[in-house]
Amino acid sequence: MFESLSDRLGGVFDRLRGRGALTEADVRAAMREVRVALLEADVALPVARDFVDKVTEQAIGQNVLRSVTPGQQVVKIVHDALIAMLGADESSLLLDVTPPAVVMMVGLQGSGKTTTTAKIAKRLTQGSLTGRERKKVLMASLDVNRPNAQEQLATLGTQVEVATLPIIAGQQPVEIARRAMQAAKLQGYDVLMLDTAGRLHVDQALMDEMKAVADIARPQEILLVVDSLTGQDAVNVAQNFSDQVPLTGIVLTRMDGDARGGAALSMRAVTGKPIKFAGTGEKMDALEAFHPERVAGRILG
Ligand code: GDP
Repeated sequence: MFESLSDRLGGVFDRLRGRGALTEADVRAAMREVRVALLEADVALPVARDFVDKVTEQAIGQNVLRSVTPGQQVVKIVHDALIAMLGADESSLLLDVTPPAVVMMVGLQGSGKTTTTAKIAKRLTQGSLTGRERKKVLMASLDVNRPNAQEQLATLGTQVEVATLPIIAGQQPVEIARRAMQAAKLQGYDVLMLDTAGRLHVDQALMDEMKAVADIARPQEILLVVDSLTGQDAVNVAQNFSDQVPLTGIVLTRMDGDARGGAALSMRAVTGKPIKFAGTGEKMDALEAFHPERVAGRILG
């Protein structure tokens, strides 16, 4: 991920660092190239513009140009601005409540919601997301639209050794949520993960269903799963969801196939929501906590 952006920026910064002294015009020329590189990576236009304006202002405004290593200083400013654009480090899940803590997964069909639900559940049972404490996790699929969606989650549950709520044919999402809450309480689960139904598009029926489920389950975390390969569309989808439900974070899937990375770069600035995880493959272990600092480091090489 970020390969082409990283290459492009690497070239710009090598040239900047290669010069002894820098003029304001040199910085402006370099920043024009940075802007093009960001747009080619599919970063939203206002985000790219804002980023370049801020960096330019800092690089020219401070004593950077008179310093001994001006090129290096500019790279540092870009590095810090990238971290700010990606958001603070907030990848942990906040599940410190009287059990069961509820994590509600939302998103469009095919975004990777069910897969991600099982991946996160697996991590929770291993204790790797919440300060090493192993959680007892129950998963429930509320997806009554897609044939076999509930069975798919049950199969993944078996694979990752996480319990799933028994399926009762014909039950509607709100009833399933209620039953899942009861089961989680009675059976002493620490965390209940609700995999809600996806849709092909964001529509009112989907939003109403999510709100009804959230009213019953009172989730601590509402994670939106979006496909990073859809670039700016992913950001638009996130904005739509975010306007309707109080999202606590975003999971970007298919980062393994995303060489551009525009969704990751624009997401925080556009939606104000932190990216908490990145899906990096189909396997159950292919999930990474999203650390802006590491990502910025990866982009700048
Ligand atoms: P849902 O409809 O949103 O529940 O989507 P699924 O969880 O069924 O995922 C759809 C497809 O995407 C499946 O084939 C998954 O294996 C695949 N998938 C999910 N996450 C990732 C990921 O991070 N990387 C890759 N390469 N594939 C993924």
